[in-house]
Amino acid sequence: MVAEKIKTKQKSTVKIPEMKYNIEKTPDSDRVTQFLNIFAAILKESNYRAALDQYTKVSAKCARCTTVCHVYHATQDVRDIPCYRSELLLSVYRRYFSFEGSLYARIFGGFELTEEHISKMQYSFWNCTACRKCLLECPSGIDHGLITHLTRYILSEMKLTPRALVISTREQLFGLTENTSAIPLIALKNSIEFLEEELFEAFGVNIKFPLDVEDAEYIFFAPVSDYLMEAETLMGIATVLHTAGVSWTIGSKYFDAINYGLFYSDLVLGRVLNKMEEEVKRLRAKKVLIGECGHATRSATFLKTFWHGDDNPEIVNILQLTHKLVMEGKIKIDPDKIKEKVTYHDPCNIARQNWIVKEPREILKSFCRNYVEMYPGGADNYCCGGGSGLVSIDEIRKYRTTIAGQKKAEQIQQTGAHYIVAPCANCKKQIRETLTDNNLDGELIGLHDLILKAIVIKGAKQDG
Ligand code: SF4
Ligand code: SF4
Repeated sequence: MVAEKIKTKQKSTVKIPEMKYNIEKTPDSDRVTQFLNIFAAILKESNYRAALDQYTKVSAKCARCTTVCHVYHATQDVRDIPCYRSELLLSVYRRYFSFEGSLYARIFGGFELTEEHISKMQYSFWNCTACRKCLLECPSGIDHGLITHLTRYILSEMKLTPRALVISTREQLFGLTENTSAIPLIALKNSIEFLEEELFEAFGVNIKFPLDVEDAEYIFFAPVSDYLMEAETLMGIATVLHTAGVSWTIGSKYFDAINYGLFYSDLVLGRVLNKMEEEVKRLRAKKVLIGECGHATRSATFLKTFWHGDDNPEIVNILQLTHKLVMEGKIKIDPDKIKEKVTYHDPCNIARQNWIVKEPREILKSFCRNYVEMYPGGADNYCCGGGSGLVSIDEIRKYRTTIAGQKKAEQIQQTGAHYIVAPCANCKKQIRETLTDNNLDGELIGLHDLILKAIVIKGAKQDG
């Protein structure tokens, strides 16, 4: 076994909080049969086989992945070794779904799936934040984030998903409000009105959050929790779009960018995207604009897979658009406003593939004289510790902020920055809680919150 071969380097000195998730429903008795049936059905309807065939053959069991996993770094627990965890699922695949494995078992016996093995998976796969940093290190190219997603998908079909995630996606898919924060439309309208009033009070300029405008260039989906918790981010975005004269709208029938399907279920992923598609088509928007959120941006790129027809829209993250507007000189940001030291945290879902890495840095460097990098950063960044939906599970806050978030806390401390910029709703919540729980200085802020402090607005009664 991999776990036995890879010796832990030292005994952990960290006290690990007990990981107890509220599970949605008591599982059925014959979980082994259930697990195998669901696994078989998913394999039949998807293309996971190609990856699993490859991974079961190529793993070198070299332990290089352990050198970069922030969870294993903190716990030093063999169960948090990426390859050990993935082997929990790969051993099932090899035994029951590969020709060689089934033949071997028939002749020689060997591994059989048990209740205990399923319990191990249930524990282990919710410890991984699916940040995919270990993929960069693995010489065999094994994507543990993908294996985590697939295993959670099977477990979710067995109703073994943490309750916090199920409740929010249920409200989004089947509830009255159709969003993960359960914000009724009337409350959204009130919130928008309030933000417009705040902007008018600050700048003396009518900056709007357009609602239900047809044929706009962009339809905007924010992580819906921003309407409750990240007013400055939204005001910064609206101000940038207003100043540059961008044509945009929010849709009243569907306005949530959050898609936890990316973390645990392809079915949920697709259903949420279907809602987004309906709204894009209803308002005939040309492009989809996603707010400050890593997983929401990455999940929206799957729109092209689930879209009905071949006219699927371009997916744009607000950092890309703002970067373009800054580079074209369509918005101006005063370089003398922000005097404090500023650093940047890369959300895994937009940085790991080197996708949106240079844009936020170029924006920040254009107006923050005292900008410092966090090390490592960009594609090599460390997860905030709340990735893959863990941030929404409040009962494991201590685990998130003191174990999974330990590396991020160290990184932030090393920069000595006052402002820690994190353009992602999940990272914002997680890092704020990490700062509090570890008694660290520094203010977590969105990128557009910082722009709002320094943007030059034509006709404004003051300089911002
Ligand atoms: S995906 Fe991230 S959390 Fe999961 S095993 Fe790899 S490095 Fe660790
Ligand atoms: S780095 Fe890759 S091959 Fe080596 S132990 Fe980790 S997953 Fe296995």
